[in-house]
Amino acid sequence: MGRNTVNTCSFCGRTMPEMFQGMERTTLICSECIESGYKMLTAKPKKVAAKAGELSLANLPTPQGIKEFLDQYVIGQDDAKRFLSVAVYNHYKRVLQEISNDDVEIEKSNILLVGSTGTGKTLLARTIAKMLKVPFAIGDATALTQAGYVGEDVESLLVRLLQDADYDVTKAQRGIIFIDEIDKIARKSENMSITRDVSGEGVQQSLLKMLEGSIVNVPPQGGRKHPDQELIHIDTKNILFICGGAFDGIERKISQRMNTQTVGFAAQEKAAQVDKNNLLQYIAPQDLKSYGLIPEIIGRLPVLTYLEPLNKEALRNILTEPKNALTKQYKKLLAMDNVTLTFDDEALDYIVDKAIEYKLGARGLRGLMETVMTDLMFELPNHKHLGKTQEFRVTKQFTEQKLGHRKLIQLKNAV
Ligand code: ADP
Repeated sequence: MGRNTVNTCSFCGRTMPEMFQGMERTTLICSECIESGYKMLTAKPKKVAAKAGELSLANLPTPQGIKEFLDQYVIGQDDAKRFLSVAVYNHYKRVLQEISNDDVEIEKSNILLVGSTGTGKTLLARTIAKMLKVPFAIGDATALTQAGYVGEDVESLLVRLLQDADYDVTKAQRGIIFIDEIDKIARKSENMSITRDVSGEGVQQSLLKMLEGSIVNVPPQGGRKHPDQELIHIDTKNILFICGGAFDGIERKISQRMNTQTVGFAAQEKAAQVDKNNLLQYIAPQDLKSYGLIPEIIGRLPVLTYLEPLNKEALRNILTEPKNALTKQYKKLLAMDNVTLTFDDEALDYIVDKAIEYKLGARGLRGLMETVMTDLMFELPNHKHLGKTQEFRVTKQFTEQKLGHRKLIQLKNAV
């Protein structure tokens, strides 16, 4: 290396007073670039940065950030969103924390969502997984009942999670599993003899193992083709479990508990403030026990929250508000065919009224919209080659025509 005092630095491009020449005498480097290069080389090795887009403590959204994201996709359910946001935030802080020597161990916060079917339990869990870009799998607790023995079905939930993680075990171990209909495996009565209800109890025990964290052996990809291949070990310790259930009739247990708890004048006054139309909001772990969940399971689902029934206003908002609301999707699809689509308020009100009248719920809204829109979706693109923008207004009258009684009965049977 030789010294050169004229020319420009091959690295920073500046003309500097002090320059050094490379071995082949074709490159020059200034003293400042040498210094910063030296600093880079001698700096303490940084922690391996998380891969782009991967969850890390640095990019973990705050509870408020999580709730705001949920607000974009899920209507209402404010209490559930707040509980979920905090629980999910704490869960991933626990998972992503550096191993420290202090003895404080943050416990796992699996979640139980109680609420009627079609109120957004699955949607909440799915949206959180989407936001955090972690693998997600859905299972049904009733499927576990039928298998009769422990292991197989628990395994199948993990296989699904592993598939969603593209067989990346580390990623899968940080995923989210949603288990629906957890109420269906409850014992029918708290006092019922265990021997008379082996299945419910047995399934709860098998679930328990997974919820509390255990190593489960899962057949690898194409396991059937390669029977000699080793099984994949999945540790469920850091998997977040969100369970959901309608717990039909649990209001009675809640009300019984609240009545027995409320004795005396002060209590009477308190009881007067109880919102009898929405008792679910007072749900407590002991109600789940009265319903027939074993205490160990209840203990492993420490975050307990509820979903409200969706009223007319909520159903109406579901049609127009979420980022991927049905009306927005149809508008976008038809805009690609140069059609400007609009919906009259009365038309949307009519759809919501029918959803309520025929008890179709939020889940039925898609079917209703499909029924209204299918002929349009078939016909309108025919004119796209004319080059002009067309307009189409979905009116109440048009909606009424499409949603005849017979159609509505068909939709009801399909929900
Ligand atoms: P659950 O799991 O409570 O039975 P889902 O989350 O599967 O209900 O809801 C069914 C469908 O209804 C969802 O895919 C969504 O389209 C719609 N839906 C239900 N609740 C809501 C909500 N609160 N906000 C927006 N859409 C909802």
